Amino acid sequence: MRWENLSPDSEHSRADAALFGAEAVTTRTFDTPEFRGITFHEIRARSIVNRVPGASRMPFEWTVNPYRGCSHACVYCFARKTHGYLDLDTGLGFDSQIVVKTNAPELLRHRLASRGWRGEHIAMGTNVDCYQRAEGRYRLMPGILAALRDHANPFSILTKGTLILRDLPLLRQAAEVTDVGVSVSVGFTDEELWRTVEPGTPAPERRLEVVRTFAGHGIGCGVLMAPVIPFLSDRPEQLRAAVRAIAASGATSVTPLVLHLRPGAREWFMSWLGRHHPHLVDRYLRLYADGAYAPKWYQRRVTRQVHELAREYGIGPAGPGMPRRIRAAEPAEPVGSSPAEPAEPTQLTLL
Ligand code: SF4
Repeated sequence: MRWENLSPDSEHSRADAALFGAEAVTTRTFDTPEFRGITFHEIRARSIVNRVPGASRMPFEWTVNPYRGCSHACVYCFARKTHGYLDLDTGLGFDSQIVVKTNAPELLRHRLASRGWRGEHIAMGTNVDCYQRAEGRYRLMPGILAALRDHANPFSILTKGTLILRDLPLLRQAAEVTDVGVSVSVGFTDEELWRTVEPGTPAPERRLEVVRTFAGHGIGCGVLMAPVIPFLSDRPEQLRAAVRAIAASGATSVTPLVLHLRPGAREWFMSWLGRHHPHLVDRYLRLYADGAYAPKWYQRRVTRQVHELAREYGIGPAGPGMPRRIRAAEPAEPVGSSPAEPAEPTQLTLL
């Protein structure tokens, strides 16, 4: 392990000073294989509960994000743009320069105890994955979950990380006293596509193992089938394979979401597409000619296909064995427009 306090004129110190104050930043690297090439910027954040901009169509108002940047490195990740707010690179930098809010649990506990807090629902995994690899070392989520449990504060988690299983006992405890929602993101089951487009994530089948384990404990877990990637994961047989696997995992719901390409993600994804599937570049330029979203007719077609398959494979509400308060997290709907650039990234992504 290596660490250093940042010199005032280094690139990262300028970035961190932009939001957190340079004196609060320590950078670390670890020699273990899973963290090779990754730099962690440990900071003491000023706040941890973020309000979703009022114009957003998200089904929640408050979010908690203990990390910024994500080593899951999904090529299409919409949160890339938010790394730019820190003057950090939105491409490889987003995958490898991870900001860690080391005081997240204590900040949250303090906020939940404050007089102004009314016990509203808190969504996690809405910007970057709170169960990305860093969580294995920093272990911020147990403290966060314990605070939510102790205050009986409702919350939901959306993740691609299998590490969430570590916290299953805490999730069960929280579900005894409040509403808890869990969703796992699995857009497709094609292993070859997974290796190139989501290179830092657990394999789709391992994510579905998370759903299976939750179901085995009587905990309802939904799947956000996101993203469905045009021309790469949208063939009927691919959609069928994905929905069949999701159904077999015991998921309580499946919600499809077609890839969207906002600025930040768009450039990085298109450059990846040009390297891996150059013959598709022109088709993408046509499909996304009007902006970040695929045309409505395309989105509707995918949604209809997935819903039909879900009916065929019997994905539906969980059975009577499910604990009263724990359920699949409400997957977020796509945001119609990006909010104005916030001081703290409340722009929401879909894992
Ligand atoms: S899409 Fe989610 S899991 Fe993938 S890099 Fe972005 S935040 Fe991480």
